[in-house]
Amino acid sequence: MREIKKVNPSTCVYCRMETTNPHVDHRIPRVLGGNATPQNAVIACSWCNLSKGPRPYPVNPPPGYVGPWPPDHWD
Ligand SMILES: [Zn+2]
Repeated sequence: MREIKKVNPSTCVYCRMETTNPHVDHRIPRVLGGNATPQNAVIACSWCNLSKGPRPYPVNPPPGYVGPWPPDHWD
């Protein structure tokens, strides 16, 4: 987790907005077979983390987000 925060400490991978309260999110939810490994850990803002829940992506964009949802940068 420490390496991830060092690389990108405050930018949410989902909405790409700066967050003052970064959460470490499981990119692939554990209920979908994701593991608690650094490869599966990403920084998410609290909104996206909570909106995502046990799904692959957040359902709703955070307040203040501008642009298409889902964003183009999602794979
Ligand atoms: Zn976000």
